Amino acid sequence: MKVQCPYRCDYCLNLKGETNHWWLRPQDAEQFRLVRWDQQLADLDGYEHICSESCAAKALSKWLAQASGNLVRTPAKEHSLSAVQ
Ligand SMILES: [Zn+2]
Repeated sequence: MKVQCPYRCDYCLNLKGETNHWWLRPQDAEQFRLVRWDQQLADLDGYEHICSESCAAKALSKWLAQASGNLVRTPAKEHSLSAVQ
């Protein structure tokens, strides 16, 4: 077993303690998801480490900003938009 290096929150740089309940976010442009902390996933590339509700909110804001940039090229919701107009 390797020695565990402490994890840092990707948003506020908090260090994770043994008993902290954190979340992981797969870096997925299509959908925003949080998953419960999983020791194996935490070591993988492509997962953000999130320590708290406020950092989850920051992650969501960042994702929304990226997602709105993608809206231009996804015409998937056109029929629902016309129903609103
Ligand atoms: Zn944090």
